[in-house]
Amino acid sequence: MAVHNFNAGPAVLPHAVLERAQAELLDYQGRGMSIMELSHRSAEYEAINASAEARFKALLGLGDDYRVLFMQGGASAQFALVPLNLLGPGAVADYIVTGVWGEKAVEEARRVGQAHVAASGAASGFRALPALDALRRSEPAAYLHLTSNETIQGVQWASLAEFHDATLVADMSSDILSRPFDATRFALIYAGAQKNIGPAGVTAVIVRQSLIERGRADLPAIFSYSTYAKNSSLYNTPPVFAVYMLELVLRWIEDQGGLPAMAERNARKAGRVYAAIDSSGGFYRGHAERASRSQMNITFGLPDEELERQFVHKAQAAELIGLAGHRSVGGIRASCYNALEDASCIALAAFMDEFARANG
Ligand code: PMP
Repeated sequence: MAVHNFNAGPAVLPHAVLERAQAELLDYQGRGMSIMELSHRSAEYEAINASAEARFKALLGLGDDYRVLFMQGGASAQFALVPLNLLGPGAVADYIVTGVWGEKAVEEARRVGQAHVAASGAASGFRALPALDALRRSEPAAYLHLTSNETIQGVQWASLAEFHDATLVADMSSDILSRPFDATRFALIYAGAQKNIGPAGVTAVIVRQSLIERGRADLPAIFSYSTYAKNSSLYNTPPVFAVYMLELVLRWIEDQGGLPAMAERNARKAGRVYAAIDSSGGFYRGHAERASRSQMNITFGLPDEELERQFVHKAQAAELIGLAGHRSVGGIRASCYNALEDASCIALAAFMDEFARANG
């Protein structure tokens, strides 16, 4: 029996995907070996690689002017590769900083070139997103970078439609493919797979073709987006098993009804947990301000740390796993990514009601 898996990443995967991978593990399509043991130049792997790119673009409504690259090094590598590729000497990039991950992104950019904080939620302790009407933009800026969902603080932009820039760049590691949005407005989106779209080991980089062409030409090949684009992510050995799993997850998202179905499912799940917070008479205190609440990572505290320890301990005994908050914020964090089933949020909300009654 599977547990209710609220891990922040690596995180829960769709059960149907795990079953399919299990069924194919020892003998991939009659080849008498697993997908991990086949060459990345085999027809079988090339089909997976091409299908993963095509399905990703179709889910996002993107056409031939975009590529999806499959890279390694996690979103952390992208913190450096984005400025390495896009931030030329003398240029400035603007960053909207909404939490720990946005801070890391800007820190890394500063190792490469000039990065400017155009807005920050720091004054609120990253409990609230900054107001966009007070954006302090550089003129001109090489790009504007944002983090769509801050995994640790649990704050998420409810709409991405408010951002305007010719070169909009986003870290969507913890909410990629969780809801529909107009991806054509973004020049580059990156996401580590291990939350919403697969296992750890592969990072998706969705990038506008014209941006690749404008990228710096003097980079080592392995750090250059253009190398990955020209070689369809097969310049060197890719993480074949991770891409195989990612492709299965994309098929699963399609089978569920695509991004509108994901959004509905995620809103329903998060709604249940936030309702348990809001109906607890102050026993549970949401970390994020309401307007900034994340549907992916629900962060909250209890009256004291001892109760928080007991909460995590008892939850674990009830097979509700992975609820301890990130060490930098503390408290509780329930990560409710795409693959988490409704039943897990129903079980968590019931546990929360009961725990509040017993300890409130
Ligand atoms: N950005 C966000 C929003 C994240 O949640 C994470 C990982 N938790 C990262 C970046 C770093 O990702 P990675 O561990 O894949 O380098």
